[in-house]
Amino acid sequence: MTDAKLRNLLSSLTPIARELDALPAGRPAPDDSYVKLDTNENPFPLPTIVMRSAIAALERQYLYPENDNVSLREAAAAAYGMSADRVMAGNGSSELLSLVYRAFLAPGDSIAMMSPGFSFNRKLAMLQGAQLLEVPCDEHDSLPIDKLLFGPARHAKFILLANPNNPTGAFVPVAEIERLVARYDRLVVLDEAYIDFAPENGLHLLTRYSNLLVLRTFSKSYAAAGIRVGFAFGHPELIGRLRNIQNVFNMNVIGHAVGMSILAHRRAYDENHSYIKHERQRVSDALSHFGFAVTPSHANFLLARVPAGQDGRWWQSALERQKVLVAFFADDGMQDCIRVSIGTKEQMDAFLTAVRKLRYGADSAS
Ligand SMILES: *Cc1c(COP(=O)(O)O)cnc(C)c1O
Repeated sequence: MTDAKLRNLLSSLTPIARELDALPAGRPAPDDSYVKLDTNENPFPLPTIVMRSAIAALERQYLYPENDNVSLREAAAAAYGMSADRVMAGNGSSELLSLVYRAFLAPGDSIAMMSPGFSFNRKLAMLQGAQLLEVPCDEHDSLPIDKLLFGPARHAKFILLANPNNPTGAFVPVAEIERLVARYDRLVVLDEAYIDFAPENGLHLLTRYSNLLVLRTFSKSYAAAGIRVGFAFGHPELIGRLRNIQNVFNMNVIGHAVGMSILAHRRAYDENHSYIKHERQRVSDALSHFGFAVTPSHANFLLARVPAGQDGRWWQSALERQKVLVAFFADDGMQDCIRVSIGTKEQMDAFLTAVRKLRYGADSAS
């Protein structure tokens, strides 16, 4: 194709995908010499019984997966105490989140999200030509309910709440979420990606309110990020609209089998979850000792404000030179923060050793 023809072709296409070029490019996975604490994975192997189900599924590789994930939806419905028409399964909860945007928004619509929040929502809103209203979080882990009900968000098609929130780790008591859902006429999308590290969850609200969708993922708390299993729960009318627009065979046979197996063996993760909560406290204490201000977290990561006068991006690069990867956010109010995932004890020791070295110099003792 000539350059002129290509240029004409590109300018004839809708500009939205081009605008997304402005977002940061992905990076190849770092090699195993890096301690990877930047994307909140759960670093432990699958329980043996779950792993066996994944391997068995490989023998059905020549078949398409089940259409509409019927048995996985039925298993999730049984596990969480509801009917299967209230469940949709997806290729990670980010697929379901993107279906929510596509199913419920037209260009010019608006939606509201707490800020700082999960940045993937910016991209989804932009793709839909929708306006994302970012409502600042309260200092004290609570919802600004009046601001949401009576501010610009009252015209939003839905309010998106991540609880615990990413990237802060802050947790809003479910009673507060219920107060919002009860008083709001529109939809609330409750993203519970980190809920297994928190004290309580909001799934039971679905029995009382039809203006609520709950999203769950097996990526963070069930160590299956690479396998891609997520769920949406809600009123059959809402779930039905999402299922109407789903891709054919949106999950693969391994995700399907692992999802079924995890649902049947959730207790096998109890130790994993209590380890992470315990380690989160140990790392938080150590970081405070090193002069960081750590936001109390109910997720498997910590948001830490770096010592006074220093810069989050500097810390991210300096840690990367020590082969430790953490997340940094360029947004207003976040530039003096880093977010660090809770990994294995060895990974967290490597992180803390690198922090100590950068803080006090190479030959400092404890
Ligand atoms: C990680 C994450 C997700 C998506 O997880 P999937 O791997 O796509 O299931 C959704 N919401 C939040 C807030 C997250 O941090």
